[in-house]
Amino acid sequence: HSGFIAIIGRPNVGKSTFMNRVIGEKIAIMSDKPQTTRNKIQGVVTTDEAQFVFIDTPGIHKPKHRLGDFMVKSAIDTLNEVDVIMFMVNADEGYGKGDEFIIEKLKQVSNPVVLVINKIDQVHPDQLLPIIDTYREKLDFDEIVPISALEGNNTDHLLDVLTKKL
Ligand code: GDP
Ligand code: MG
Repeated sequence: HSGFIAIIGRPNVGKSTFMNRVIGEKIAIMSDKPQTTRNKIQGVVTTDEAQFVFIDTPGIHKPKHRLGDFMVKSAIDTLNEVDVIMFMVNADEGYGKGDEFIIEKLKQVSNPVVLVINKIDQVHPDQLLPIIDTYREKLDFDEIVPISALEGNNTDHLLDVLTKKL
């Protein structure tokens, strides 16, 4: 299997942390400041079963300027070109306006979407199911996978899930 995976999600949900973990070398800029990653940065991940080309898609969040509108349009074009979309959200902040904006955009895209709930190291296990249910109501996700990109929890399972979508 091989294919292109777009990573989307609000600033600071952990997209760069995940990419850096699975790619094994730093290719995206990590920062506590939102919107540090301005370019589509690609990295290749090779497992026993698959090869993924990951695409960082920073332009999908709510635009503040006209340049932002252009970035959103370009991000939607990217989402229509890849094989699978990985939509990452933050378990310790829950559903919010930023997620809502992206979900509205995802309704315009027909590719499979895997919802990745990141930072599960920050929440009590009992909190996870209500979070999953909240997101499940918003969009018909192909899969929902909780992970901790920082600690590496369930990231191998996520790669398995993505492999099955290619
Ligand atoms: P991006 O804007 O989506 O690329 O987010 P980053 O990867 O830059 O991460 C933003 C912040 O969240 C950084 O301080 C990361 O260390 C932190 N972070 C990312 N993933 C996790 C995680 O799984 N658990 C915790 N506790 N923090 C995380
Ligand atoms: Mg980033």
